[in-house]
Amino acid sequence: MTREAKALVCRDWNKPVQVETITVAPPQRNEITIKVAACGVCHSDLSAATGKIQMPPPLVLGHEGAGRVVAVGEGVTAFKEGDAVISSFISMCGKCRQCVRGRPVLCENASKALVTLPDGTVRTHDKDGKPLNVFGACGVMAEYATLHVDNAVKIDQDVPLQNAALVGCAVMTGVGAVFNTAQLEPGSRAAVFGVGGVGLNAIQGCRTAGAEMIVAVDTNSEKLELARQFGATHTINAKDEPDAAKAVKKLTGGVDYAFECVGAGSVVAQAYKTLGKGGTAIVVGVADPSDKTSFSTLSLPAEERTIKGSWLGSARPQYDFPRILALYKAGNLKLDELITRTYSIDEAPQAFADMEKGLNARGVIVFD
Ligand code: NAD
Ligand code: ZN
Repeated sequence: MTREAKALVCRDWNKPVQVETITVAPPQRNEITIKVAACGVCHSDLSAATGKIQMPPPLVLGHEGAGRVVAVGEGVTAFKEGDAVISSFISMCGKCRQCVRGRPVLCENASKALVTLPDGTVRTHDKDGKPLNVFGACGVMAEYATLHVDNAVKIDQDVPLQNAALVGCAVMTGVGAVFNTAQLEPGSRAAVFGVGGVGLNAIQGCRTAGAEMIVAVDTNSEKLELARQFGATHTINAKDEPDAAKAVKKLTGGVDYAFECVGAGSVVAQAYKTLGKGGTAIVVGVADPSDKTSFSTLSLPAEERTIKGSWLGSARPQYDFPRILALYKAGNLKLDELITRTYSIDEAPQAFADMEKGLNARGVIVFD
């Protein structure tokens, strides 16, 4: 059956996001419909609403959700009604060179599914029957969502869905940048630039992986206080420090890993500058397409430095989401403490305004 759902929609870049009642069509072959329980508000949702991330509107926002399956389409064997799932914005064809070598975040056919389901169509329509795009094949800032089975990961029933939702982006992105992309060795020295929802998870990833020094850099002193709780050994307020990179280098002698979790070329340059010999800078933040950065070319060979990107923490979602939840259940990762505030779907525009003000580690929209 087609369901009505309240959803958060971006109608135009740089216009306020709005709550609308949309329709969600039933699952087709290899699809499921979920009743969304919770969805985190990620900076990427805000960037999609401003056009910094260029996803064409009208767009149902949300890619960090969790819920329960309420309907399964033809051919679905891995899910049944009542199953708990986390949404995954990684569309993977399973057949291209990247998918078969175990790198689904690099799927060569995924770009087709940036704002639709993998077959290029959507199950979401507005009250006039016009199609609505969905963020990253998800669009889970909505009471219901129909997803391709590859955009959903089944999880144990015993994890609160509010916490599980955050694994769909912030936790996987931050922790995965450390575990999968950097493969940080115990005893390493690390710096994290930008300790919002993603950066705090890079901090706790570094802690869990056994980093010796973890320096948090942010312009917001409250975020730096949180970073300490998540495992930062040192903090630097970039507002007070004219050259934050120099300050990190002075403290650490040069880090082995620097994580950029802001999304600005100027900060990427700072992260690169903090590296010691043999160091690696990992770029996680998503910058404007026109943004550029620069660094000393000579330092790459002469100091064997590396600069690399990380998309959803280089995840293999079906493997990594349950692995992260297991670390949470064992007490090795904090998820509860990430949620500063919850909002109803009607309050979702407020959640976006609060993110712009930097008020929350994570704001989470919760549904009944
Ligand atoms: P957020 O708004 O929660 O956090 C951003 C943090 O950066 C804030 O604490 C802010 O105070 C800080 N900041 C801003 N300017 C700074 C500066 N000049 N120096 C130091 N800190 C600064 O955002 P988030 O949800 O954590 O997302 C962070 C970035 O990661 C965004 O660009 C987002 O689009 C991106 N992202 C990337 C992926 C990926 O797969 N690569 C996934 C999710 C989010
Ligand atoms: Zn995200």
